[in-house]
Amino acid sequence: MPEILSVAWQAGTPLPPASIAAIQRAAATLAGGGLVAVPTETVYGLAAVATDPDAVARIFAAKGRPASNPLIVHVADAEAARALAASWPDTAARCAACHWPGPLTIVLPAAAVVPAIVRAGGDTVALRCPEHPVTASLLRILGRPLAAPSANRSGAISPTTAAHVAASLGNAVDLILDGGSCDRGIESTVLDLTDELPRVLRPGPVSRSAVETALGCRVEGPGGTTPAGRSPGLLPKHYAPKAQLEVVAASTERVGEQLRQGVEVGWLTCGSLDGGPLADSSRSGRLHRIDLPAEADSYARSLYAALHQLDAAGVDCIIVERPPQEEAWQAIHDRLTRASHRE
Ligand code: AMP
Ligand code: MG
Repeated sequence: MPEILSVAWQAGTPLPPASIAAIQRAAATLAGGGLVAVPTETVYGLAAVATDPDAVARIFAAKGRPASNPLIVHVADAEAARALAASWPDTAARCAACHWPGPLTIVLPAAAVVPAIVRAGGDTVALRCPEHPVTASLLRILGRPLAAPSANRSGAISPTTAAHVAASLGNAVDLILDGGSCDRGIESTVLDLTDELPRVLRPGPVSRSAVETALGCRVEGPGGTTPAGRSPGLLPKHYAPKAQLEVVAASTERVGEQLRQGVEVGWLTCGSLDGGPLADSSRSGRLHRIDLPAEADSYARSLYAALHQLDAAGVDCIIVERPPQEEAWQAIHDRLTRASHRE
């Protein structure tokens, strides 16, 4: 098992000395070309110094990530981001002013200092300034940008706890900073600023309308018109549990059907604590039911932990009660759709 360092923190208060010492250890590991899993407000990231191509190559190896899938580079502030971009349009300045630090990633033309491996050979770079106090402090102490995709094997569910990281990556990571559960629970919004019209490539915690408000203009997508190859990592199947996942409107019936076929069922409901007619099966051990909150932010915060839990329980299938359709749920629908994609 990799070494796990617990890092206490509290929003709005300075980090205690023991936490700073742990972060300094992580900075030394990174400076020496190592890999450190770090807590962010979205999910845990698997970090390496972004300007060190050998260290970045270890990220791809540890994750089993295809070389065609570029990495998000995390920076301490907008100034550090500017140094990695070949241009810094007004749209980037506005995004940074309104949403950094925070769960918004912007894609810009890359400066020459960004290694090709980080860009997956392309000419753009994805940049984000994280809000999490532990990783924000790490970036300041290190004084260098960090390439950090989610800290899981490629294609699997993103980790929202240090235990998820350890279970997925094991000794492929040198050190894990344990900052507790991630607050947002799903990956950042990815916004492409390289075209005339800004375009959301991946929906996330910052909604498209929040970006439109920040920019004062229309924002495209995500969706069908995204040019092929614009975001190479956005595969139809991604963020997937081991069990086959289905999203259905009438989940009670579907769960009943599956139970009658004798399979072990994971059931994710949404804000309905009533055990209903299936409560008996729950006791028989063939049904594992988790009720997620009916509010979008809270649902997102708990979703991956629930999927990890059902995978660990060894269920054959996961039936997800379809959540509401409003904009606040868009990123959740995106992740559920990818998780349910059949090859
Ligand atoms: P992850 O960090 O694992 O959540 O994945 C990062 C996401 O950002 C993937 O979907 C990548 O394809 C996307 N991404 C990273 N760099 C770029 C880039 N330069 N252009 C477009 N998308 C990117
Ligand atoms: Mg990922």
